[in-house]
Amino acid sequence: MPSSSQKRSPKHSTSAKNRTPTVAPTLVKERLNSIYGLIEWRPRMIAIDELIFTVLTQNTSDLNAERAYDSLRKVLPTWGEVIEAETSQVAQAIKHGGLSNQKSIRIQQILVEILKRLGHFELEFLSNKPLEEAREWFTSLPGVGPKTAAVVMSFSLRMPAFPVDTHIHRVSKRLGLIEEKTTADQAHPIMEDLIPEDDRYEMHVLLITHGRQICKARIAQCSRCPLANECPASTL
Ligand code: SF4
Repeated sequence: MPSSSQKRSPKHSTSAKNRTPTVAPTLVKERLNSIYGLIEWRPRMIAIDELIFTVLTQNTSDLNAERAYDSLRKVLPTWGEVIEAETSQVAQAIKHGGLSNQKSIRIQQILVEILKRLGHFELEFLSNKPLEEAREWFTSLPGVGPKTAAVVMSFSLRMPAFPVDTHIHRVSKRLGLIEEKTTADQAHPIMEDLIPEDDRYEMHVLLITHGRQICKARIAQCSRCPLANECPASTL
């Protein structure tokens, strides 16, 4: 992770500020490490690719998003070609990802806006910006919300953002890290306040893995959970 002074997030003004979570985040990490191992950051895609891929993951499975992304890159290999193409051609290329009409418009709008701002598609310079400045840059793009911004910052730019997806949102509520009424978008700054910068990527991966494998949406398998004694939502 980059140096703390460079990427430190400002204090967020939220009603959850200073709230003590039911289970300490350090304990959550320790216990989840005990079953999922230590997680290290690994480079994924460059930032512009990650951004468009993340748009494609909205409201569909990762598998469908991957098929849509691969198809798009095959039909229109450069982002410049995606801008120049008919929107219907982009929609056809990403049809496996669902909501292709909306997503094709959104993808072209994002690319046009980036080209207008920068004259190119290289977003890596944002990794040298303060976290909030980079977040603002991303979320001021058409249709880019806190989760998409945090995914690109965390996975591609190696910045200490904490993406909250549906699994993390659910598990964090059950563990009492966030309140029941907290929305996923509201949870981003709260989780960033709770989790030290250097632990955020690892906690993101641990919580998402836990949500997929044990703390599942329909039935939480609490008998297999190393946090069952502390979790307020434990069924044991
Ligand atoms: S004890 Fe149950 S509800 Fe709580 S985190 Fe573990 S699996 Fe989820």
